[in-house]
Amino acid sequence: MTSNMDVILEIQSQVKDMKTKIVFTHVESHQDEHVPIKELPIRAQLNSKMDKIAEKQYNFSINEHYKKMPHLPAQQISFSSPWHRLTNNMESEFSRSRRDFIGEKEALRGWNIKETLAADVDWTSLEQSIRKWPKYGRGTPIKCLHDLWDTTKRKKDWQQTDSDTCPLCNVKVESTSHVLRCTHLLMVAARNSEIEGLNRKFKAANTDPKLRRWLMVVIRQWLQEFRVATPQRMRGYKKIRRAVLSQMEIGIRNMFKGILSSKWKRAHERTLKKKYGHFVSGDSWASTISHALLQMSIRMWNTRCQIVHAN
Ligand SMILES: [Zn+2]
Repeated sequence: MTSNMDVILEIQSQVKDMKTKIVFTHVESHQDEHVPIKELPIRAQLNSKMDKIAEKQYNFSINEHYKKMPHLPAQQISFSSPWHRLTNNMESEFSRSRRDFIGEKEALRGWNIKETLAADVDWTSLEQSIRKWPKYGRGTPIKCLHDLWDTTKRKKDWQQTDSDTCPLCNVKVESTSHVLRCTHLLMVAARNSEIEGLNRKFKAANTDPKLRRWLMVVIRQWLQEFRVATPQRMRGYKKIRRAVLSQMEIGIRNMFKGILSSKWKRAHERTLKKKYGHFVSGDSWASTISHALLQMSIRMWNTRCQIVHAN
């Protein structure tokens, strides 16, 4: 398979159907890199314009890309998965998507997320949120993401200690979830200030008050080990309700690893659309939310370690 095979076939088929005579000329690419675009011949101008459109399409998040890239009209067959539709560089993209697919399947298993929910996971914001850490500091969020904190539970699982009880409250098993929910006085204080911090960050990210309230309800209830409530079926809450239900399926615990349902983003995009009158991507908002939650978890773990080592 040559690269861009589907696109070339598409052009050939379009050309065949056209009644007009078509002449092909070679146009050197990227001419606008050296000469101002307005001074270039019309063909070179059109070429750089097409480049910009292609680049925009390529850089769009996968979810949007998936929706905006229908089958090409003459295409008989295309390769797609819930995450990708291959449109160019068939051979290398095919191996890449296969590799990513296996990686994602493996990750989902680790997070206790059903494979059928893969398309509901906001992969884009998760990736962007981890990229906010400098390249050589990404071990910290990755450890949090894959439950690799050295808790007493983990130490017992690895037979490094006899007890898996939390060294702070001495009551419960110290799982990674427990670190976030521990009732030791200092942990409660740290958690309360983290919760306030999240609310401030969500506000600063221009989250709609209703959406922010529900994000906070879900977060608070899970941290306090309450049953997580869902919004009533009411006007103006449809998207929020969907987001809460979807996050419950993906796992509320996973929110604290920065793994969000993409339906939160959809809910935010609705407010953006109301505000600006057209579609605006919620990617950057969602990565801010994901990043804030990851940071919170990491700081809770750091606090835990400080208390343990001070004793
Ligand atoms: Zn504890």
